[in-house]
Amino acid sequence: MLLDGKKISEEVKAELAVEVKALIADGHRAPHLAAILVGNDGASETYVASKVRACERIGFGSTLVRLPDSVSEDRLLQEINAINNNEEIDGLIVQLPLPKHIDEQKVTESVVPEKDVDGFHPVNVGKLVLGLPTFVSATPKGIMELLARYNIETSGKHCVVLGRSNIVGTPIANLLSRNSNPGNCTVTLCHSRTKNLADFTRSADILVVALGKAEFVTADMVKDGAVVVDVGITRVEDSTNPSGYVLKGDVAFDEVEPKASYITPVPGGVGRMTIAALLQNTLQARKNRIKPN
Ligand code: NAP
Repeated sequence: MLLDGKKISEEVKAELAVEVKALIADGHRAPHLAAILVGNDGASETYVASKVRACERIGFGSTLVRLPDSVSEDRLLQEINAINNNEEIDGLIVQLPLPKHIDEQKVTESVVPEKDVDGFHPVNVGKLVLGLPTFVSATPKGIMELLARYNIETSGKHCVVLGRSNIVGTPIANLLSRNSNPGNCTVTLCHSRTKNLADFTRSADILVVALGKAEFVTADMVKDGAVVVDVGITRVEDSTNPSGYVLKGDVAFDEVEPKASYITPVPGGVGRMTIAALLQNTLQARKNRIKPN
């Protein structure tokens, strides 16, 4: 069965639109998300455009700041600082990756934690690890929402996560192992140095794959009845497609789907949920900034 990120993200967005109306009816302004896009990488352009469009559709304000590839680190930091101090903006994301001459960590740390709706700032990552309220980064948050809304049983299950990035693999491993629902999994975190990877993946009740390697996980690597969450998005050349490429996940969907009890498609799975979760964080940032009377 499909874990339909497209459908569930529409549900989440409809709920958010209702909350925005309620905020406005209470005399507050709508949440406002700012996005900074450096350069013109095709995939980044697409992601940022979807985020801005999603904001507009549910009644959030949005600001897109475009800077050239050649922008200096100082200039970018100034732009971030201006948004940090702008009372009309609740959330700020800087689309990654950044050009090589810019220090990504420095940039991440320059966004004030209160507006860091991507949940990348060390303060927010630290809070996540401690289980304190924070902005959980959008992709793992979206995956948790998807599992919750499909009532996927996670307690006591063996969850295998492939990939240990700071934005996906590590936080989802943390969230699924904590004492919560979804959660309470026994988690194994695999990476490029893991030996006999398929022995781990075949023992997974829940398999979360975040590698960035198109169709890496094949049917022989998956246990019958497993829940498979495919985070990967890779553009693979395809001359038959007008865009010249197709999007592929990290899982060979056609062969794995018959074995899985639940599986996310690509596109239409985790990517959609990521945007919905970013919007949830932005609404939360807005609410956090409303002072009680
Ligand atoms: P990343 O930073 O590129 O890290 C990839 C991880 O995979 C690393 O931990 C790496 O191990 C591990 N890995 C690579 N090859 C491996 C192998 N053969 N066996 C086992 N582990 C291996 O990844 P990311 O930023 O998390 O992104 C992963 C994918 O998800 C990409 O396709 C990205 O575009 C996609 N993504 C999608 C969304 C969404 O909204 N759907 C959001 C974020 C990312 P080492 O640490 O040992 O190098």
